[in-house]
Amino acid sequence: MTDYIVRAISFDNKVRIFAVNATKTVQSAQEKHDLWPVASAALGRTLVVGSMMGAMLKGDEALTIRIKGDGPIGEILVDANAHGEVKGYVGNPHIHFQYPNGKLDVSSAVGKNGEIQVIKDLGMKDFFISSVDLISGELGEDFTYYFSKSEQTPSAVGCGVFVDTDNKILAAGGFIIQLMPGATDEIIDKLEKVIATIKPASQMISEGYSPETIVKEICNDEDFEIISTLPIDYVCRCNKDKFARGLISIGKQELSEILEEVGMIETTCHFCNEKYHFNREELEELISNSR
Ligand code: ZN
Repeated sequence: MTDYIVRAISFDNKVRIFAVNATKTVQSAQEKHDLWPVASAALGRTLVVGSMMGAMLKGDEALTIRIKGDGPIGEILVDANAHGEVKGYVGNPHIHFQYPNGKLDVSSAVGKNGEIQVIKDLGMKDFFISSVDLISGELGEDFTYYFSKSEQTPSAVGCGVFVDTDNKILAAGGFIIQLMPGATDEIIDKLEKVIATIKPASQMISEGYSPETIVKEICNDEDFEIISTLPIDYVCRCNKDKFARGLISIGKQELSEILEEVGMIETTCHFCNEKYHFNREELEELISNSR
């Protein structure tokens, strides 16, 4: 079965909830980048949250999340859109940190100092850019802070990835709970109790919970309504033309030097590791099209 997100409302329409199973999506990222477990957890959590933030967009809107911490994983970058397509990469996929109890230490990989930056492409050259400082580097808490601070939407974010001993992804998923205007103290109290006791998202997914069941768990005995369901997947739409346009933009002089010295260019897509080769003839054509 494919990965998907559900969007639900509950608590008299005063609370909106997103929940996602992203196990296959994070597995694709693991395979494309040969992620070691803590890198799978860090990129996976960002892909989980990114996919749900993508589901909050409309039409052809898209967003980019950049997490720039001072840890050895380097930059974490995730692109997502309203069609359920998500992709990403990390600076260094081959790092390893775990707590003495065996749990993956995402915070040491990401770093505790730095920022989360979100760039939303709302179309027609309209961009929304905002950033907040990292709080813990564990990412769930950091995204919770991002929503409250940057989007003025009190939220609770849960995200997690379970990695097997052979680096395969056993479970990845999460939820975002958001208070809508008019949410009462009574609702907030109920949700705080749920958030304090709910199982970690990755545990729920590994126990076989569907996104709908996660919503049910969050709503406890409250009624809820599933508003929409969105399939998600790891998708990179790169192609040779896009890379050619990028190369043209580096300019005639630099391209001519490469032609002279190397005679070809090989580029690699950061998101999917697809390689694009430009031979001498193609390089000459790029030069004739550049300034
Ligand atoms: Zn690609």
